Amino acid sequence: MRRAYLDNNATTPLLPSVLEAMQPYFIEQFGNASSIHHHGQQTRAAVERARESVAALLGCRASEIVFTSGGTEADNLAIFGITRPGDHVITSSIEHHAVLNACKRLQEDAVGCDVTYVPVDGQALVSPDDVKRALRPNTRLISIMMANNETGVLQPVNEIGAIAAEADVYFHTDAVQAAGKAPIDVGQIRCDLLSISGHKIHAQQGIGALYVRKGTLLQPMLYGGRHERARRAGTENVAGIVGLGKAAELARAGFSNGEVERIRELRDRLERSITGTFDSVGVNSGSAPRVPNTSSIYFDCIEGEALVIALDLKGVAVSTGAACSSGAIEPSHVLTAMGLSPDRARASLRFSVGKQNTSEDVDLLLSILPETVARLRELSPVYNKAV
Ligand code: PLP
Repeated sequence: MRRAYLDNNATTPLLPSVLEAMQPYFIEQFGNASSIHHHGQQTRAAVERARESVAALLGCRASEIVFTSGGTEADNLAIFGITRPGDHVITSSIEHHAVLNACKRLQEDAVGCDVTYVPVDGQALVSPDDVKRALRPNTRLISIMMANNETGVLQPVNEIGAIAAEADVYFHTDAVQAAGKAPIDVGQIRCDLLSISGHKIHAQQGIGALYVRKGTLLQPMLYGGRHERARRAGTENVAGIVGLGKAAELARAGFSNGEVERIRELRDRLERSITGTFDSVGVNSGSAPRVPNTSSIYFDCIEGEALVIALDLKGVAVSTGAACSSGAIEPSHVLTAMGLSPDRARASLRFSVGKQNTSEDVDLLLSILPETVARLRELSPVYNKAV
């Protein structure tokens, strides 16, 4: 059966050249990067080369990159590394759970911080004015994501960075879904901390990085050796780091070699075709600035889960605008925060394109979608009443 994987915001496949770059670091070059003999020197050099590549993707110095176990750890390190009891933090209602649940923990009595969750408008955009209005004398950190994982919406991080700089407040941005899709320049954003994750840019799962602006006082979360300049203890995941470095190079090249535009064209064709074919569909955040690979589309009167399963049976992998929590299907907090009804949020699907996708993948989706949507809508008493 032909298959098409269109769920690249969940994870991306390793690219062959990334695997090739990693391969020597499993067997031949196995040294601990902290060892002083030549085995250690070899892997230390590889780790530092990868650090340069990641820094080049973000527009910072290599010494400002801290390797982590992924986006979740990078977000947690930024949040818990900066805040102290009694601090106030500003974040948004549409952050990834790696930020939202870290902020919930901050609010617990044992930690003792206050958190303001700024709302979003109908396009899922945060207003910089709301962020400014939420500032308090004890605000220590603003954490607003660069690109949303469900809608792909790019937040006005440059404006928020300027507000944070003016107020002398730390600014963290979760750029896990922006890396490789939108140019990132930490100097322009004026952020102090920025998270990325390897497996969203065709590197391995379980590797990521946090940019920490020089001079930022960051309390580590892990205690042990003085790895990563005492910001993240633990023997480095050398192969993972090398893969992240290679993936960062490829992500950077994508902006000049036409790859990002090719992905945008695939996404735009998918979107145009779906909105032109079906009634009662629409693109969530369709008129907001978005990363070029993501499309969140509602198919009214269809249960998103059912559509995902039906498409999977025909070889196409996508995801829903819902998450399964405690056994129940909860509508996405992102889609409901932007004002979608729970039904429309549950009827939403996320399509996300990656570097490995071709035109044939989109063709496959578009060839099976009409019959699948029609069949599911036939079963819907609501749809039959609505039309
Ligand atoms: N932040 C965003 C916006 C994400 O989409 C994800 C992953 O889905 C994460 C953070 C967490 O990254 P990781 O899976 O590397 O822990």
